[in-house]
Amino acid sequence: MSIEQDQVVSIHYTLKNDAGEVLDSSAEGEPLTYLHGHGNLITGLERELTGKNPGDKLQVKIPPADGYGEYDKALIQKVPRRALKGIPKITVGMRLQAQTQGGVRAVTVSHVSGDMVTLDGNHPLAGQHLNFEVEVAEVRPATAEELSHGHVHGPGGHHH
Ligand code: ZN
Repeated sequence: MSIEQDQVVSIHYTLKNDAGEVLDSSAEGEPLTYLHGHGNLITGLERELTGKNPGDKLQVKIPPADGYGEYDKALIQKVPRRALKGIPKITVGMRLQAQTQGGVRAVTVSHVSGDMVTLDGNHPLAGQHLNFEVEVAEVRPATAEELSHGHVHGPGGHHH
């Protein structure tokens, strides 16, 4: 069975940046299972997986636009430390939920200088090429319930 819209797909994968550092991977021996065609994977990777079969191995290089977006300097803002009251210790690299003009957004503390804190609203992988090595483990049709929820149930999936 090849990968098409509305199928449940299990993949082993490793994600590296252009420097060859491993950024993410499926758990040792345990594939990631997702519902194909529902935006559960980044667009560029889903597109490359379409039509592949169990046992297929592929290497995919995804440009930022099809991954986590281009790095956008407009998403960087400086705020006074007092704007982050309730957070006792602000350290570089800390992830926060911040109120921005565009609503609540996940931001990373990228710099602290005196009383000013720089918040970066870019995804940590924005602007990076994503280099995936993928092996397709399993493909099966989704159940009606999975389709109505838009995600996978059972082993490798989740429920809430
Ligand atoms: Zn569900």
